[in-house]
Amino acid sequence: MYSHAPEGYICPFCLLAAGIENEHVWSVQSDIVHRDETVTAFVSVHQWPNNAGHVIVIPNQHFENIYDLPTPATARIHETARRVALAMKAAYRCDGISTRQHNEPAGNQDVWHYHLHVFPRYAGDALYASHPPRVMPADERAEYAARLKRQLNERTANED
Ligand SMILES: [Zn+2]
Repeated sequence: MYSHAPEGYICPFCLLAAGIENEHVWSVQSDIVHRDETVTAFVSVHQWPNNAGHVIVIPNQHFENIYDLPTPATARIHETARRVALAMKAAYRCDGISTRQHNEPAGNQDVWHYHLHVFPRYAGDALYASHPPRVMPADERAEYAARLKRQLNERTANED
């Protein structure tokens, strides 16, 4: 419904979720902080200057936007965003968390696979006014991913 993906669209997020690294996907497997049968969460290639280490949560299955998203995937995505938010609080010592999610060109959607951004927030960081984001190198992203994974694993261990 309300699809804007061009004919023959090669979806970078489907490739990432499937464990594929090639010229069609900017992200690499070392960006991933969490993956299960339903969702994948990873440190974004694009990073805003005052909010480094922000994460994107996607359904593994291809749904273009919020209109198409089935309830089980919706629940799992938000639950994962919550876990990532708590991991960020512990790993980054951030003051707050914001989530952002865009649909259709008028909503500034840029990848035609549903994705939810989870941002660490700091007092006075001007997230919504600071543009454009920069491309963070893969080795730097891997460091953020490692910090978050450590927290996610610790929290999972404590829940058992
Ligand atoms: Zn996709």
